[in-house]
Amino acid sequence: MSGRFAPSPTGELHLGNLRTALLAWLAARSTGRDFLIRMEDLDRVTSSVDHERRQVADMAALGLDHDGEIVRQSERFDLYRSHIDRLTTIGRVYPCYCTRREIREEIDNAASAPHGLPDGAYPGICRDLTADERAEREAAGRTPALRLRTEGERFEFVDRVLGRVDGFVDDVVLARADGVPAYNLAVVVDDDVQAIDQVVRGDDLASSTPRQLLLQQLLGFRTPEYQHVPLVLGPTGKRLAKRDGAVTLAELAADGWTAADVLAVLARSVGLASHTEPTGSITAESLVDRYDPAAIPTSPSTYAELCALRS
Ligand code: GLU
Repeated sequence: MSGRFAPSPTGELHLGNLRTALLAWLAARSTGRDFLIRMEDLDRVTSSVDHERRQVADMAALGLDHDGEIVRQSERFDLYRSHIDRLTTIGRVYPCYCTRREIREEIDNAASAPHGLPDGAYPGICRDLTADERAEREAAGRTPALRLRTEGERFEFVDRVLGRVDGFVDDVVLARADGVPAYNLAVVVDDDVQAIDQVVRGDDLASSTPRQLLLQQLLGFRTPEYQHVPLVLGPTGKRLAKRDGAVTLAELAADGWTAADVLAVLARSVGLASHTEPTGSITAESLVDRYDPAAIPTSPSTYAELCALRS
């Protein structure tokens, strides 16, 4: 069985992505698992093979190797569609003709958000359209997205970092109106097909996990173990981004950081190495035996804190 890191190849990895990659690698290696890299390049406009190569090279520079071929989601659309067909067969898919704006207006006009549903959850406008109403929209030239038909399901899981997490599932998009499969569906299918039983990723995705648990149940897949790890935030309190300064390996190198400096800072920032431990003695391999998901902090780090950890 395997663990994985699943970046979108839309740019260079920054310190936050690199830290998640390190933790995913440590989680897999410390439990004797293979470690796979999957490129989540569903959005072919922003993804590129150059970014992909760079991301893998940057991981390798930190000592993070991987097993097997790198899988690209852009090459697996048929696989995703066949699973959407399976969900359609069991009555769990409906076409949705709404524009983003229509959905936003419906949410804004509702007196209060539907109890317990995730923020921005689809308010169900197209859930119960009649055949005539669908035909009318098609005649007006609208192409539908496909949504999951939920039935008020609620899912709970025990995250190895965060502890107990639960949430309701909304009618999430399975395929966009342009036919591109959506994130939650693709991830669930890939994790099953690739025999991934350990998922380590940023904790911004913890709220999407109940959706993935429902999809796994409907498709008869096993649920992997989850470790949602903290993000690195930029100076404005938002998730770290390129504009926040020297955040990629290349940018940090231009400021005099070695790959070993970066690795040491990432390790110190989650308590895997002490500040007094010399940078040169900290390698990815040396951290494998120290890795314990229950000891990973649950609150984010800031870019400034990371920079201060360089010795
Ligand atoms: N592609 C997602 C990201 O870059 C990660 C998805 C996942 O690990 O499930 O944030």
